[in-house]
Amino acid sequence: MEPIRMVDLRSQYLRIKPEVDAAIQCVLDSTAFIQGEAVSDFEQHLSQYVDSKYVVSCGNGTDALTAALLALGIGPGDEVVTVPFTFIATVEAIAQVGAKPVLVDVREDSYMMDSDKLEAAITPKTKAVIPVHLYGQCADMEAILDIAKKHNISVVEDACQAISAAYTFSDGRVKQAGTMGDIGCLSFFPSKNLGCYGDGGALMTQDEELSVRLRMICRHGSKERYRHEIVGINSRLDTLQAAILNVKLNHLDAFITARKQAADYYHSALSGMEWIVVPQASPNSTHTYHQFTVAVQNGRRDALRQHLASHNIPTMIYYPVPAHLQPAYASLNYRKGDFPVAERLCSEVLSLPMHTELTEEQLEYICQTIKNFPL
Ligand SMILES: *Cc1c(COP(=O)(O)O)cnc(C)c1O
Repeated sequence: MEPIRMVDLRSQYLRIKPEVDAAIQCVLDSTAFIQGEAVSDFEQHLSQYVDSKYVVSCGNGTDALTAALLALGIGPGDEVVTVPFTFIATVEAIAQVGAKPVLVDVREDSYMMDSDKLEAAITPKTKAVIPVHLYGQCADMEAILDIAKKHNISVVEDACQAISAAYTFSDGRVKQAGTMGDIGCLSFFPSKNLGCYGDGGALMTQDEELSVRLRMICRHGSKERYRHEIVGINSRLDTLQAAILNVKLNHLDAFITARKQAADYYHSALSGMEWIVVPQASPNSTHTYHQFTVAVQNGRRDALRQHLASHNIPTMIYYPVPAHLQPAYASLNYRKGDFPVAERLCSEVLSLPMHTELTEEQLEYICQTIKNFPL
């Protein structure tokens, strides 16, 4: 059996090597490393794939979140609501633009924003809400969009983990993660479902004016070279990364199918276990399995993790500490106990190996090793 990896980028690369190498060589031959042709090609390609009117590429997912808030004019004195159970970048972007992160707890079943708790967090200072589409499925968007509309606040979707996840509204409309709110943010960090070979990100919007603003912000506040209309940042997708992403986007559906097959295996093998909670389907959303994250409910998550490690099975904890208990955000004055669901999840979640190259033999070995864990 091949060694089990948490993420296996190498085997995936070897499968698509001729295409990727040719795309890279093409950029090397052109030497158009910044804003070369592959960048606009990829933006068009992605906009078709996710069915978003406008796509603006940028340097990474964190910059996408920051640029989104800047484009909406959010800054000091404003509040932005998000969740404590996320990668820190979501909260960090709010703080970086000078606004105050306001947190609401996540749901017991989906681990994503509890829309029933959103309204209570909204004040006259609230300018936006950032739902996080965690682990590969969409948050409770219909309720979140309704509440945002009622209070006239913007919705920025953190879709960094959920490219291609589809959400069905009660009227039957189907939309992809990141295309439902005012602005959606994607990350192409190598381990994401659509990952490049370095850093990369993109913004999606259906609003032309916002798309123009987003592009200006990511290009030093300018539309025209050396004429800077607003204060911007420098955040661009490298041409090399865009060329790689152009190749990989053609394979994304197959990548997601491979992830779903691995997830199906985990589900059927682990579903009957008393002390393991397998991922629950978020209402109205498909799951693209960026992570396959179980909750270990017998208080022995860390012991199980060690047991697996001793059998050469890597696992990860996304996330071990909620945002409100991170030292960097102590000034928000949250306390232990403020977000009990997020806090409990931090001590229970365990992400199992999940990538496009897992074999049945590996999956069987992982599940059997979990079942053999002495209680
Ligand atoms: C990966 C990720 C980000 C940040 O993306 P980078 O490209 O690493 O900057 C933001 N939010 C979430 C939920 C993520 O998973």
